[in-house]
Amino acid sequence: MKKLEIKDLHVSIDEKEILKGVNLTVCENEIHAIMGPNGNGKSTLLSTIMGNPNYEVTKGTITFNGENVLEMEVDERNKAGLFLGMQYPVEVSGVTNSDFMRAAINARREKPIPLFTFIKEMEDAIDRLQMNPDLAHRFLNEGFSGGEKKRNEILQMLLLKPDIVMLDEIDSGLDIDALRIVAKVVKEEIGKRNCGLMIVSHYERFFELIQPTHSHVMIDGRIVLDSDGSLVNRIDKYGYDWIEKELGIDY
Ligand code: ADP
Ligand code: MG
Ligand code: MG
Repeated sequence: MKKLEIKDLHVSIDEKEILKGVNLTVCENEIHAIMGPNGNGKSTLLSTIMGNPNYEVTKGTITFNGENVLEMEVDERNKAGLFLGMQYPVEVSGVTNSDFMRAAINARREKPIPLFTFIKEMEDAIDRLQMNPDLAHRFLNEGFSGGEKKRNEILQMLLLKPDIVMLDEIDSGLDIDALRIVAKVVKEEIGKRNCGLMIVSHYERFFELIQPTHSHVMIDGRIVLDSDGSLVNRIDKYGYDWIEKELGIDY
């Protein structure tokens, strides 16, 4: 049973507290929608789970299958099976996409992946995502369109085969056809390999395609509402004001 558990997580950046006590548990075969107005800590939460050093954990715990994630280096978190598809993927000049992917895969293995196996897996993944095969040989994300960068994050996910997948606004910059493809591939993959999924998005359409099992609203560094998948609809229709009123939150 795969289980990521976050308890009373407090996180600061430059002495300023951004997360103020987050509680969240994600198990295999669960799809968690994380919503909330901009600037309320969604990306901070995901980056902290991955071990971004800009974020200082001042209190609380993160465990994965009972292991203390906060004691792991970034590469150990990758190895343990945590993955973050980023809102703003970085461009790396001089490193081809395929060399980058192969190094990332090998970092998670005892023995390097045989070249033939790697090529086959990369070609299959590119095919599933309906990406231009040339993107394998170009420098990582350099000159990629917004949509190509986002698909490339999903390509990484397919090749790395993580257990917990976090996607931060991966759908922004995708046109409707690309959105359908990405949603279909993500849904298939996490179903097939029994992953846990956390998705930050502002678009109901993406959630409609992905069908979350759980949903959460984050306001001012706290999850103020937990619900099932149906909350996504309600937020799309009515926004966040009603939550603030109902819960008496003023932020
Ligand atoms: P969201 O993803 O919900 O839009 P973020 O987690 O990106 O929110 O940001 C939460 C708050 O933390 C914001 O006030 C933002 O300005 C601040 N913040 C995030 N990252 C940094 C950083 N690297 N340096 C300073 N402030 C940051
Ligand atoms: Mg934002
Ligand atoms: Mg964000």
